[in-house]
Amino acid sequence: MKKHKRFKGLFLCLIICMAFTFIGCRGRAAVSNTEVSMTEAVEDIKTSKFSMHFIDVGQGDSTLIGCDGEWMLIDAGDNTKGSAVQLYLKKAGVSKLKYVIGTHPDADHIGGMDVIITKFDCENILLPDKKSDSKEYEELIDAINYRNYKISVPRVGEKFSLGSADFTVLGPISKAESNNNNSIVVKVKYKDTSFLLSGDAESEEEQEIVDSGADLKADVYHAGHHGSNTSSSSEWLKKISPKYVVISCGKGNTYGHPHREVLDEFKKIGAKVYRTDEQGSIALSSDGVKLSWNVSPSDTWKSGYENAGTKDVVKNKADTVPQRNMAEDKTTEPGNSLEMTYILNNNSLKFHYPDCKSVPKIKDKNKEEVKTTRDELIKRGYEPCKICNP
Ligand SMILES: [Zn+2]
Ligand SMILES: [Zn+2]
Repeated sequence: MKKHKRFKGLFLCLIICMAFTFIGCRGRAAVSNTEVSMTEAVEDIKTSKFSMHFIDVGQGDSTLIGCDGEWMLIDAGDNTKGSAVQLYLKKAGVSKLKYVIGTHPDADHIGGMDVIITKFDCENILLPDKKSDSKEYEELIDAINYRNYKISVPRVGEKFSLGSADFTVLGPISKAESNNNNSIVVKVKYKDTSFLLSGDAESEEEQEIVDSGADLKADVYHAGHHGSNTSSSSEWLKKISPKYVVISCGKGNTYGHPHREVLDEFKKIGAKVYRTDEQGSIALSSDGVKLSWNVSPSDTWKSGYENAGTKDVVKNKADTVPQRNMAEDKTTEPGNSLEMTYILNNNSLKFHYPDCKSVPKIKDKNKEEVKTTRDELIKRGYEPCKICNP
């Protein structure tokens, strides 16, 4: 079989697999609704010169971008997802990656990347100037050394080509304390269509990029930090003014991603939202003017907490209710006995939501991430933080 044909064949298989997974998940009612747009999208993506794939890696990020036969991968999910990402790339016909970007050294972004580095020829490996002492980061560095690859730290303003598409680095502008605010932020352009991907950048990094005067306007925005309320601040979102937003997050994730207020913002600006927690892997193609998607947008507008069967418990940072009242208020809430991810401070014996403002200030030796219930933590003698009111 000719290479070209095999590529087409593999891609068709992938799309059919995705179609079946999708149909299988949605049940009968949704089938007729999505079938038409999907068939069109299949044709478009198969013959397209430019495609972007938000691979479903559960709670984490992994985005594959292809143009004119050249490929780049931004993040690779957590430690358990390396092989799944590898398989997706294989099915898409990727044999070589021109760029591999690890947006920042958090496990849900670079955990699976050692597999990719080992299995694929990678021309350029781009990482921010931020190290971590985590096992996942060590494994990534080991894999890079094993392949004798060099790490490049991209400069803000630097532009790279991917076939006839290109991408420009917009951040991080300054070195920040937290991993998230050191995320590599890129704007990808293909003819008249553009895409903004910001890793886990939070409002601080977003503000710096806004202040830099960079042109943020994009058709598609890959929501920062999995749709967390630490990100997608209003000025940032206004500058991007996306028509489409893609959220990569895990089904029933314990962080409650995407958060209610962020979804409300997306709705307010009239953006169509796609989500990997509800729709699995999401693929789009561009002809340079028009975008085609493999699925219809999500219309649930449900936050991660609602999808996990609990109510939205993340409070606005401004409304800090005294902690004792909160504790009393919460005694009858169903969320109390629901397993969530919390961050413990083993020095102050406080517990926090993972995205609480005070978490980055906790010393590493006192910090512990746990997945447990609120009730259990209180029983163990921990107090809820007064800022995030977990
Ligand atoms: Zn993340
Ligand atoms: Zn992160």
